[in-house]
Amino acid sequence: MVQENLTQVEANIAAACKRAGRSRDEVTLIAVTKTKPVEMLQEAYDWGSRNFGENKVQEIMDKYDKLPSDIQWHMIGHLQRNKVKYIVDKVCLIHSVDSYRLAEEINIQAKKRGVVVPILIEVNIADEQSKFGVRPEETMQLVREISSLDGVSIRGLMCIAPYVVDSEENRPFFRKIKALSIDIEKENIDNVSMDILSMGMTGDYEVAIEEGATMVRVGTGIFGERNYNK
Ligand SMILES: *Cc1c(COP(=O)(O)O)cnc(C)c1O
Repeated sequence: MVQENLTQVEANIAAACKRAGRSRDEVTLIAVTKTKPVEMLQEAYDWGSRNFGENKVQEIMDKYDKLPSDIQWHMIGHLQRNKVKYIVDKVCLIHSVDSYRLAEEINIQAKKRGVVVPILIEVNIADEQSKFGVRPEETMQLVREISSLDGVSIRGLMCIAPYVVDSEENRPFFRKIKALSIDIEKENIDNVSMDILSMGMTGDYEVAIEEGATMVRVGTGIFGERNYNK
């Protein structure tokens, strides 16, 4: 099943890139593997996937040693400061930084290990109460503050768009965060680039690509529905 799904998702990504006049290699597919067993991750790996996304520190730690070392792990979920130390040298990108205090802790842990950790700023693009992320109008200020920490490097923005039935409803949000990333880029802030825009999930990744996503995070569309009560 994983292979068929991956082939389908890959075809959809290629088609969306084509519609948008973009090259296929501008978009990285992150296979979101949360709750899924390592056997399924291995299957995706064997079919060519190298970018995996998890939202829990414990799950990254459990899976990390059981799978090939050339996998790029992405932390895409809410991150508690006291857990930063466990993953800072395991992940290639932390997508979910939404406070100075969290960035500060990543900075401390990065310096201990002599590395610079690439991060994205998570924006609560639709101002939803239930969601993490900085408010759009406060994003520029947060980026400026975090840019002073030299153990982290801001590489772009991330958002989780609202859950909708018709993905077209999210197009305005994707446009809005893209515009925000352009505004930030124009400021030419030291230690900040806006090369990455992480947006789009199973329900809306094609629209997200049309609106400029450079990373899409697809779980259900590759691995099937998640079962949280195992
Ligand atoms: C679970 C998750 C996804 C994947 O969601 P699907 O709808 O299953 O594709 C993407 N991004 C984040 C942050 C997630 O937590």
